Amino acid sequence: MENAAKTDRRNAEALTLDSEYRFDPATGLWALIVEGRADRPSNTERYRSAEGSDTGHEHDSSCPFCLGNELETPEAVAVAALKHDLGEKDEYEVDDFEIVTSSPDTDVEGREWLTRVFENKYPAFRMNRKEGDESTFTSVEKRFFDDELPNPSFFNSISGRGRHEVIVDSPRHVRGWGDLSPLEVKLTFRIFHSRLHALRATGCFAYSFVFKNTGVTAGASQRHLHCQLTGNIELPPTIRDELERLIRYEQTRLARGEQLSYWDALLDAELRAKERIVAVTDRFVVYCPYASRVPMQTEICPRFNDPFEDYDEAALDELALLARRAVIALEEVKRRHYPDEPDPLDYNVVLKNAPTLLEPDISEYRGLMRPRWLILPSIIKRGGFELGCCIDINPVSPETSARMLRDTFPLVK
Ligand SMILES: [Zn+2]
Repeated sequence: MENAAKTDRRNAEALTLDSEYRFDPATGLWALIVEGRADRPSNTERYRSAEGSDTGHEHDSSCPFCLGNELETPEAVAVAALKHDLGEKDEYEVDDFEIVTSSPDTDVEGREWLTRVFENKYPAFRMNRKEGDESTFTSVEKRFFDDELPNPSFFNSISGRGRHEVIVDSPRHVRGWGDLSPLEVKLTFRIFHSRLHALRATGCFAYSFVFKNTGVTAGASQRHLHCQLTGNIELPPTIRDELERLIRYEQTRLARGEQLSYWDALLDAELRAKERIVAVTDRFVVYCPYASRVPMQTEICPRFNDPFEDYDEAALDELALLARRAVIALEEVKRRHYPDEPDPLDYNVVLKNAPTLLEPDISEYRGLMRPRWLILPSIIKRGGFELGCCIDINPVSPETSARMLRDTFPLVK
């Protein structure tokens, strides 16, 4: 009874926001308007010294993501927890844990967790449309430029629809992947896989992905490390544009009789050029892309073409360790080459995933978007040129960035 009361209180405290995507016909760009979301609680500034460096410790009794404070967040939908009946062990391995998903028969909250997932208390969107809203991104764009309609409205919006989850990578009050143990980061990637697999199985979402904001300048509102997952009902327009370019390339290469797909040809060219490569394993290539938008932009691209939702455990573990090593290498490069910047590094991580649902006429092209991981350090701020032209000025070439990372990467354990 007491638990039910607490749950009601938590839900009542959460913001109940409507969100809508609004269309700018001249630029073709969309904005997601979520009035009031900026009012959600933030504690990141509290852990910054006067110089901006991080001053936090491994536990904070007032942090909603720390162990013991689970009642401050919505109930878990999944946790990574120790398997039952393991007995005493000196050291646990990733296979000693299981991903437990919430169900009427499963008490997820009763399990001791290392990674925990729950619905975002302050979501950017929700599952339901506003009543009467039948529009989609493509129908709005088409309607505006339809010559059968003499007076199109300049004020076009659609409901922000989707699912928004928070993934807390560790019960410890640490700030980034560089602070995680290899075991913790492996569990984080296994839970990414489990959640994205579950969302794909619902058949509701066209595009789902995870991202991470670490530090104030990267947009984090909580110091305690966490990732976010969004399941988007419709394919976001920029992802559709990217897919359409890949379809154009695919059709051209088939007409030319070329053997390698876009990603295989790109990785082949990068491996031959060598100068932007940071590390290579049997399954993945870590590199700084040719047209990097920011200093030390780093990508992890698989050398195989499976959907992320179908990865096996060996691939997930290898990817997790590479991502952790890349972040530690980036933090070390920042320390060596940018000593005046606040410590440690702020950064974003984004999974550029493949769509999970497409219209029947293009569904055969789903696999053209190879799932890859972008790590974008927040070292420079966007200025007027970037905002005016949507082109980033990057003061450090990817060739220089890759050289600095290559010197550091092998030293990371
Ligand atoms: Zn915490």
